[in-house]
Amino acid sequence: MVEIRLFLIGSDNFGVLLHDPATGATATIDAGEEAPIVAALAETGWTLTDILVTHHHGDHIAGVEGLKRRFGAKVTAPAHDAGRIPGIDATVKEGDAVRVGSLVATVIETPGHTLGHIAYHFAAEKLLFSGDTLFALGCGRLFEGTPDQMWTSLNKLAALPDDTQVYCGHEYTLSNARFALRYDGDNPALAARAAEVERLRAEGRFTVPSTIGQERATNPFLRAGDPAVAKAVGLPGGKPAAVFAALREAKNRG
Ligand code: ZN
Ligand code: FE
Repeated sequence: MVEIRLFLIGSDNFGVLLHDPATGATATIDAGEEAPIVAALAETGWTLTDILVTHHHGDHIAGVEGLKRRFGAKVTAPAHDAGRIPGIDATVKEGDAVRVGSLVATVIETPGHTLGHIAYHFAAEKLLFSGDTLFALGCGRLFEGTPDQMWTSLNKLAALPDDTQVYCGHEYTLSNARFALRYDGDNPALAARAAEVERLRAEGRFTVPSTIGQERATNPFLRAGDPAVAKAVGLPGGKPAAVFAALREAKNRG
């Protein structure tokens, strides 16, 4: 059985280590900062073998070179962003297999937040590392891609099995929940989850991982095809991609 260590880097970036007991291999998904990842490795006793990068933003790669130097870990990153990520050993594209010891992830290209953004899906373990594409109850800002690209990317992730556990790049869930309630307040599954998120954060606990099933039921950005959400954002009867774009615009305004 795979083991996972989840921790914070800075105020809201998630650090996450994935450990394969069968081989001793350990991956960090992204590397926003060296020191907290080294500390998490020391606490677990695991030795870093792999660095899986989702996208080129500094809060996801600033620790890559230091960790590679320290552990000799192999760096896997999206081919599209090869020029913007240091220390790459392997570039990957849609559908490529990425091995961490005996574990295997499939690469899912998810342009939108950045054009080169990828997610890592470990199908056998039912784990998704979604970076800054799909957040718990939210989605990433569109820094490089179009709303249509992001909508397509989110739907690729939403099509994974409902019991897939989702590890995202940031603990943004509380503010996402409050935003979601403004546009999907009559959704009882969302109301229940928002209350749970308020409680978890009040206790200082993480809201991650969620599951694809939970996100499909409660994440307003995945529910852009729902008539109630379309109406709430001012586009009754609107196409899902247009509703998604309007929702993302509303979130940008706060
Ligand atoms: Zn980012
Ligand atoms: Fe980020």
